[in-house]
Amino acid sequence: MAQMSKIEWTDATWNPVRGCNKISPGCKHCYAETFAERFRGVKGHPYEQGFDLRLVPEKILEPLRWPRPKMVFVNSMSDLFHDDVPDLYIAAVTKVMTESPWHIYQVLTKRSGRMRETLQVKLRTEAGKAHIWWGVSVEDRKYGLPRIEDLRNAPAAVRFLSIEPLLEDIGEFSLEGIDWVIVGGESGPGARPIREEWVQSILRQCRQANVPFFFKQWGGIRKKEHGRQLNGRTFDGFPSIQRSEFPARSKRIEIAQAVTADIAALLNTLTIQPANRYTHSNEIAKNKSSEK
Ligand code: SF4
Repeated sequence: MAQMSKIEWTDATWNPVRGCNKISPGCKHCYAETFAERFRGVKGHPYEQGFDLRLVPEKILEPLRWPRPKMVFVNSMSDLFHDDVPDLYIAAVTKVMTESPWHIYQVLTKRSGRMRETLQVKLRTEAGKAHIWWGVSVEDRKYGLPRIEDLRNAPAAVRFLSIEPLLEDIGEFSLEGIDWVIVGGESGPGARPIREEWVQSILRQCRQANVPFFFKQWGGIRKKEHGRQLNGRTFDGFPSIQRSEFPARSKRIEIAQAVTADIAALLNTLTIQPANRYTHSNEIAKNKSSEK
């Protein structure tokens, strides 16, 4: 079963990797960490190991089994370009995406340097597929703007920005080569405030550059109270959607069999460790000390 998503700009989530660690201010209240840590130590639960990073090869073929086309947020509970995800594993995940062009895939990362390098060299052909959208998270000027440059320099067919949680006015920036912008405020306990003028500035720049704009939410501690209206309306822009026709079941089975063999060959060369290369509690301690 696909994991249906409540995220406004997608249909479903797919997590062939679980867990991550914090790298910038946008991560401070990471919803994925909060969710995953709730189940640490719960025997048999998918998040038994909390937010420790691990590969989940049993999930890798999942989109090939879904009975209808979807818009899929890849690794909503992790980051595909995390240092501890081997290149071969990224290649295997990408193989599944390229072989199922009836879905739209949305890959979002904060590790934009590694994504750029990977798309420039190892996944250059795959980067050009119009049904795979590659995006970076932007929360502020210091961390966010360099990620936009990385994305612009990646040879992706479709590039998008998730400017969420928007933590400050990011000022004037270039939208050249960018196909979609999502903006949102932080939500949940401890949510940091967003200001309307920051959002209006991004909306104005998107209009000038003719880039589709999606306003996700104002956020806040109780996000439902604030909704997602801006200037008295919702903004639900999307880039142009190019996907192939949904094949008949027999054809999908044939594709799945071929991809299964290819993925098995790729993953056979990897030693996938059931445990992790670091423990999440160490990362939390590290992050706490670096925030001081
Ligand atoms: S990169 Fe994303 S998934 Fe990883 S800790 Fe930061 S917010 Fe969470």
